[in-house]
Amino acid sequence: MSEGPCESCGAPGRVLAHPSAPVSAVWCDACHARLATRRVPMGMILLVAGLIAGLVASAGAWLSGGP
Ligand SMILES: [Zn+2]
Repeated sequence: MSEGPCESCGAPGRVLAHPSAPVSAVWCDACHARLATRRVPMGMILLVAGLIAGLVASAGAWLSGGP
């Protein structure tokens, strides 16, 4: 069984390997292409951006007002 409905949209698809995870599932070509281009969740980007901003802020405070 290597074909079936796409897991994301239900269109006819086939078993494909996930572009960034060690799993395989049934996807159509359109959804598989979207997986490849959007493999980093926006929440992860915002989290990393927040961490960097916090580090920069604390480093700036340490440099200007440290002992
Ligand atoms: Zn699909």
